Amino acid sequence: MLASAAVNILFASETEKAEFWIPLLEKALPQDRFVTTTDQPIDIALIATPPAGTLGKLKGVKLIQSLWMGVEKLLADPGLPKGVPIARLLDPGMIAAMSESVLSHVLDWHRHHYRYRAQQAERQWRRRKQYLASDRTVGILGMGVLGTDAAKKLLALGFNVAGFSRRPKSMPGVQCFTDLAAMLRITDALVCLLPLTNETRGILNGRNLGLLKKHACVVNLARGGHLVVSDLIRELDSGHLAHAYLDVFDQEPLAPSEALWTHPGITITPHSAALTEPRTAIAKIAENVERVRRGETPHHLVDFASGY
Ligand code: NDP
Repeated sequence: MLASAAVNILFASETEKAEFWIPLLEKALPQDRFVTTTDQPIDIALIATPPAGTLGKLKGVKLIQSLWMGVEKLLADPGLPKGVPIARLLDPGMIAAMSESVLSHVLDWHRHHYRYRAQQAERQWRRRKQYLASDRTVGILGMGVLGTDAAKKLLALGFNVAGFSRRPKSMPGVQCFTDLAAMLRITDALVCLLPLTNETRGILNGRNLGLLKKHACVVNLARGGHLVVSDLIRELDSGHLAHAYLDVFDQEPLAPSEALWTHPGITITPHSAALTEPRTAIAKIAENVERVRRGETPHHLVDFASGY
């Protein structure tokens, strides 16, 4: 493609608002044409939860740029055209938001705030034992973009940090593991930031949760499919786990009839741990559009073989 050539860019999402995004995209990429239907040839598609059938019409596009970090739904869509590269969106605003969510849940547990909220409801004045951050080990499942940013910020607060990844890693100050059981045995607060793949589905199961230290907390901010809910409830009810913070669920929105809503050991947030932030994401999208225009490989391409 010529370095100066204008491109047709499809914006297709049932969750992200086109009327909000497109004016910002037009400002960043003034020479390009943004459309919301596939009636004309498309060069690049910006996608998050696209309307049914959209992916099937994208044969031959040069890039599908996800507007989200997680791409498991796109990869599972039977309409996904073969041979089209998919890029994940690494949005600085979203990464910062995720680390803030990790810190707020870990601190809520570490400083006993979940207990004090319950005590307040009972008008009960009772101080709990104080721990130092250095008494606690936070284990992070997934040492990718999100896991490493959260690890840095937890270290800055004085927590011991351990991280689990598929391939061996090294990060200053972090105990890095590829042996899951070994990491779980030293973990007081477990934070899941894994992509959902065939290998990671159900990783938060009874066997693994049972390896955590007594009165540990579990923070699942990745995907509902990582957690075996009945196993979590068993570990909470037995007193082995102190509390769980759940942001993601198999069925979203979580149905009002779900028992999880009222379990005293569970704090629920509505898949809000980190949202794509157009103000910081647009520059990253524009960078990849320019790379395609120059005939270069886009950043952050999904590895289809590993599923993330
Ligand atoms: P990355 O691809 O940057 O990192 C993934 C990490 O998981 C890597 O360290 C990888 O190991 C590790 N991993 C993958 N498979 C395995 C496995 N089988 N065993 C052990 N480790 C494994 O992902 P991100 O950090 O960008 O995002 C993670 C997930 O967070 C997303 O996929 C998404 O589902 C979720 N998310 C949730 C949001 C929310 O609001 N709740 C918002 C944004 C994202 P290795 O380093 O060896 O490759």
